[in-house]
Amino acid sequence: MTSTLTHLECGACGARHDADVLQNLCTACGKPLLARYDLEKAARTLRTGGREASLWRYREVLPVRDDAHVLRLGEGWTPLLHVARLGAEIGCPKLYVKDESLNPTTSFKARGMAAAISRAVELGAPGFVVPSAGNAASALAAYAARAGMEAHVFMPADVPGPFRVECKVLGAKVTLVDGLITDCARRAREVAAERGLFDVSTLREPYRVEGKKTLAYEVFEQLGGALPDVMIYPTGGGTGLVGMWKAFDEMQAMGWIDGRRPRMVCVQSAGCAPIVRAFEEGEQFAKPWENARTLADGLRVPAALGDFLILRALRESKGTALSIDDGEMIICAEMLGRHSGIFPAPEGAATLAALLRLAKDGWVSESETVVLFNTGSGLKYHALWAHD
Ligand SMILES: *Cc1c(COP(=O)(O)O)cnc(C)c1O
Repeated sequence: MTSTLTHLECGACGARHDADVLQNLCTACGKPLLARYDLEKAARTLRTGGREASLWRYREVLPVRDDAHVLRLGEGWTPLLHVARLGAEIGCPKLYVKDESLNPTTSFKARGMAAAISRAVELGAPGFVVPSAGNAASALAAYAARAGMEAHVFMPADVPGPFRVECKVLGAKVTLVDGLITDCARRAREVAAERGLFDVSTLREPYRVEGKKTLAYEVFEQLGGALPDVMIYPTGGGTGLVGMWKAFDEMQAMGWIDGRRPRMVCVQSAGCAPIVRAFEEGEQFAKPWENARTLADGLRVPAALGDFLILRALRESKGTALSIDDGEMIICAEMLGRHSGIFPAPEGAATLAALLRLAKDGWVSESETVVLFNTGSGLKYHALWAHD
């Protein structure tokens, strides 16, 4: 049960890179690198069932070579909940919610950071920076603390208070930036260059995608060795969507599934929907979104490095992309909460809002199995309900 990682490959130009060297983007074209494995070898030992209750149960298709470098805080293996009553009410009885709020630091960012920080420490990274709308900062702070390493996080000044407090308690250095995540990213890169720290921004290093792809392995395992018909994903930088699409390729290469895949749905906020616009316009890359505004901080990503990978997955899967108003997210958070016992982040609520529309339009039929991703907890956004 060890990693079968073989090399890194550029997601755009296909150039091959050494996986055992700490690196960010493709040195040939500046696009994201993706991890490749010896899947024939992985298939000989990787099984569902009978493994630890965390994402490390898929050790063969994760990048960390030495067990001693695996940082564990209980990431992954979150519940896939059948929400039958709500499903029946909206004409989608086979409705499931993958509840990612149960991860360390209460969001699915823990998956990506668990893999990325474990692997970067293994490769000798001296410390870390990340620009973040909140959840990535918290997750980096936690895994860096677990490793006993420095974390410097850059967040927009209007980030909800709980993120700031959490990062501080977890020992991270916190810089608040007047501006958007893209401004935070610029500052983070400057500090990384000055101080020799490793930048773990979304898709700027290859392994957060690896942690996030375990969502797909878990859903497959939790549905008894089957994939759903539709997956609805709240998309910012797109690591989860890109990761799951990659996981399906791996599962097929290992003989777990055939060519049939879920239709992937990208949900964004009406106030920041660069991927939706590019999807509708048939573009391969997404133009940056001007004046991005949404209360769903995880979706306030005006330009995604992996835009072409997200768009490719949506089209190959015969999926779609749609945007949701912030007001609908609040209504759907309460609808999901009342009917399921989950207090979702606004990003998670957006997936329900998307499903309501897709079911009404007949894009999703009654017989289909649908998985929504509640990517974080509503607790850190409690101020949205401050008037109550
Ligand atoms: C980061 C985040 C997202 C978006 O995830 P990407 O992988 O960047 O697309 C969605 N929801 C929450 C709660 C997040 O923190």
